[in-house]
Amino acid sequence: TRPALPDVEALAAGVRAGNRATLARAITLIESRKPDHQKAARALLQAILPDTGRAFRVGITGVPGVGKSTTIDQLGANLTAAGHKVAVLAVDPSSTRTGGSILGDKTRMSRLSVDPNAYVRPSPSAGTLGGVAAKTRETMLVCEAAGFDVIIVETVGVGQSETAVADMVDVFLVLMLPGAGDELQGIKKGIIELADIIAVNKAEGDAAVRARAAAAEYRAALHILAPASPDWSPPVLTISGLANEGLDKLWGEVARHRDVTTASGRFAEKRRAQQVHWMREMIDERFQERLVRDPAIRAALAERQTAVAAGTLAPGVAAAEIAEMLGL
Ligand code: GDP
Repeated sequence: TRPALPDVEALAAGVRAGNRATLARAITLIESRKPDHQKAARALLQAILPDTGRAFRVGITGVPGVGKSTTIDQLGANLTAAGHKVAVLAVDPSSTRTGGSILGDKTRMSRLSVDPNAYVRPSPSAGTLGGVAAKTRETMLVCEAAGFDVIIVETVGVGQSETAVADMVDVFLVLMLPGAGDELQGIKKGIIELADIIAVNKAEGDAAVRARAAAAEYRAALHILAPASPDWSPPVLTISGLANEGLDKLWGEVARHRDVTTASGRFAEKRRAQQVHWMREMIDERFQERLVRDPAIRAALAERQTAVAAGTLAPGVAAAEIAEMLGL
């Protein structure tokens, strides 16, 4: 006989009560790939739906070494000291390959990992970016139901992971390094377009002048690259996550972004659009999964792909044949 499935109602009640052990169990259920676990996870998410959506969702990205974990650890500690409950999640699709997550690793956030008002969870390692992102979104929802009012989602610039995170948060923060000259060359246009706030980190002491110069360059770059928004132009700040400098101002900008977009209606509109987008994405993900999981379809696809590449089979014919195998 199979082990009993978790009692969804009991799980939901424990999550709502803010029980950390239950929260961890709920997240493990969400991350499980077993079909019956996934079914239970869906029922859990439906059960807690009315308790979700009240947190403020903040995305943070930046190249490795820019100071994401240092800054999140300090910012999070400031926030819990001010009475917030902070959950830190991560989207790191590379964790699938390395077998262990580099992001959200508890040793990297020494303060938050022992803070009773914080919860640090490493990235799920669930195959595709779409799969990883979906599990992080669902984890975000259970954290909200458990009473966390600030959710920070961290990512590095791997593939499309920044877009995936920007698509699940209310405000997207990009950390940069002070070495503006070289750095500017490497700025991905896409990142600037996603940024609601840019913060140049490591700006303490002697580095402050250089960081301010970098901030001015980023400001100029934003003018050229960023799409005009009717209600918000991304501010560029200088901070030091290590020295806890500028983090209050940074959080002030995050709050101002929320206030401005709430007033304009964009905040609620974005949330609605994200919900629908998540559904569409999970449908796509299901299709992708079948292409990979079903051995017959996988083999047929590989064969068609070779023929299409060789120019002997029309792409439309191949697509129609695969669609037929999918029952479409
Ligand atoms: P991550 O890879 O983006 O998470 O970066 P980490 O937070 O692990 O930081 C990388 C290195 O930069 C570590 O040695 C940190 O101590 C250092 N660091 C992070 N923030 C600051 C800062 O504000 N000032 C200085 N001087 N160093 C920092």
